[in-house]
Amino acid sequence: MKFENSLSFARGLDKRDPLRKFRSEFHLPKIKGKTALYFTGNSLGLEPKSTRKFVNQELDDWANFAVEGHFHSRRPWLYYHKLSKKALAGLVGAKPSEVVAMNQLTLNLHLMLTSFYQPSQQRFKIIAEAGAFSSDQYVFESQIKLHQLNPEAALIELRPREGEYTLRTEDILSAIQEHAEQVALVIFGGLQYYSGQLFDIKKITAAAHQAGAFAGFDLAHAIGNVPLTLHRDEVDFAVWCSYKYLNSGPGSVAGAFVHERHATNSNLPRLAGWWGHLEKDRFKMKKGFVPMPGVDGWQLSNFPILSGAAHLASLRLFEKAGMGSLRKKSMLLTGYLDFLLCAMDPDQHHFTIITPQNPNERGCQLSLLMKKNGRKVFDKITKSGVIADWREPDVIRVAPVPLYNTFEEVFRFAEIFEKALV
Ligand SMILES: *Cc1c(COP(=O)(O)O)cnc(C)c1O
Repeated sequence: MKFENSLSFARGLDKRDPLRKFRSEFHLPKIKGKTALYFTGNSLGLEPKSTRKFVNQELDDWANFAVEGHFHSRRPWLYYHKLSKKALAGLVGAKPSEVVAMNQLTLNLHLMLTSFYQPSQQRFKIIAEAGAFSSDQYVFESQIKLHQLNPEAALIELRPREGEYTLRTEDILSAIQEHAEQVALVIFGGLQYYSGQLFDIKKITAAAHQAGAFAGFDLAHAIGNVPLTLHRDEVDFAVWCSYKYLNSGPGSVAGAFVHERHATNSNLPRLAGWWGHLEKDRFKMKKGFVPMPGVDGWQLSNFPILSGAAHLASLRLFEKAGMGSLRKKSMLLTGYLDFLLCAMDPDQHHFTIITPQNPNERGCQLSLLMKKNGRKVFDKITKSGVIADWREPDVIRVAPVPLYNTFEEVFRFAEIFEKALV
């Protein structure tokens, strides 16, 4: 599409947006009584108006049924983890038996590495992107140490080439090949939280498998942002959180995927809990853990109903909107932001967009590397009613979310941002 730098053009796009009605399904944050320009759905998604109803229903059922709510509430708590399977499977491109909502993201990453990182004398390396989210780095480091290994030797972190900001797929693949004899696990953020780069999950997975390693992905910034096809791509495992693009509320229940070929793989060690035990025998409270087949067998604890209710409310909206339509709008919306930003600073005096230019290699987020006065610019736009995200040392992340952001907001943001530059 040929974009134009005008308010009327932006409004025209909003008028023709088939998803425009979804905005009214959300509470929009205010600054000094005015609706903020919210571009931080990559950090904490907005609250759907329906969330309160879903959570209140559980509070009512708890009040009315107490322990009997496990069986008699309108969504019996005993089986609650099953209610989100279909929607999650749709979001990550999996079978319902391959996905489950459980725990928190970092814990799920530990659970998956406990199973899928089993270093041997020859094969002990983890390959990951350099500058992974801190929590992920701590997981890798501590898991390596649990096996009495040295992270300096066991963790291979891939960096972009000199003068570049994102990794080239060819370089990732050749690094995997280079370490083929020694690599045990390849793990990447599906979409890099800092740069906004969407990795080629299929090719990375194939290369990992060819090298004889497992492939896992942290989808914190990918789920609900870009369409995924984990089953078809043969990914071994993946994890995510639900409070970013999935709008399920701060600290809400996270999730995990394990490919069905590992459904009954008894070679995988794991940390076990009663919710992962065979459902029909769970309440026999007997000695001897027998996992449920599939990812359900990795569950530890009984399900967090209140955050799970918020999760369901939000997942319904995703089912209604459809990831295909969301992606279509997202490419336009972020494309428009990209267009406006490039037009205001064509020689990149003030900033460089480090997120890939190719829409197929990014989600909705653009990361702007500020060349001067970054923090000042950020403070100015904040004062003007923009909620964006500052990342040390010099990056502003902006994420127009197709479920609730508009083209007009993107236009207004660009106006404010341009003024803040001078
Ligand atoms: C947001 C995020 C986390 C946060 O972890 P929690 O366990 O949910 O606190 C971890 N890793 C990545 C890549 C993230 O984007």
